[in-house]
Amino acid sequence: MPSHAALRLITLDLDDTLWPCAPVIRDAEDALFAWLQARAPSITAAYDPNRLREHRLSLLAARPELAHDVTAARLEALRALMSESGYPQTLAEEAMTVFRRARNRVAPYDDVMPALSLLRGRYRLVAVTNGNAEVAQTPLADSFHHSLNAAEAGAAKPAPALFELAMQWGGASPAQTLHVGDDPVRDVDAARRIGLGAVWVNRDGRPWPDDLEPPVHAVTDLHGLVSWLERSQGAGADQDAL
Ligand SMILES: [Mg+2]
Repeated sequence: MPSHAALRLITLDLDDTLWPCAPVIRDAEDALFAWLQARAPSITAAYDPNRLREHRLSLLAARPELAHDVTAARLEALRALMSESGYPQTLAEEAMTVFRRARNRVAPYDDVMPALSLLRGRYRLVAVTNGNAEVAQTPLADSFHHSLNAAEAGAAKPAPALFELAMQWGGASPAQTLHVGDDPVRDVDAARRIGLGAVWVNRDGRPWPDDLEPPVHAVTDLHGLVSWLERSQGAGADQDAL
């Protein structure tokens, strides 16, 4: 792991690092299904929620170019369903708006807002996600300096594109950058492969995968990240890095 004597930029994963992901996706899919029942009932008569999911995954398998863009993939699946059932294409966009609004109703873990507000005064903070939560529409709208997703970067983590875009935006080298995330492969290993520091957020005591080199640092929440940075960087040592 590079020395963070000049740590300048912290990139943070969103889903399962800052909030639990599964409940928010489940609620967004429920909201979408209820909306389809009201506005496009021929679709919900033919597809229950599981079949809708299978339909989307089979479309993704046929169109691997959509893999890094989860919004485009969902929208294409909705467009295909609308044409199949004779509904106008504009309904697909309306349906997607319903999904996205619910997708942004995330509930950050309790440690997240206080830790980010502290770190925000010391480092540049950039959200980097493979998902389609829109930070500006979430309770964390004011917690970050910038946010990027895989659709904008043209590739999902573990590809380096999102990290490179973040470093370019923040004017930071890999040695001046630390990535924080829950996924051993897409976050920790992906970041350290291109020379970034990496901290594993392991909130639920999961074992580290046997086939990966162990993480240099792991925390159970962002308070742990703040204390580790204060120990390794010295409190306030980076004020002039901004
Ligand atoms: Mg994650």
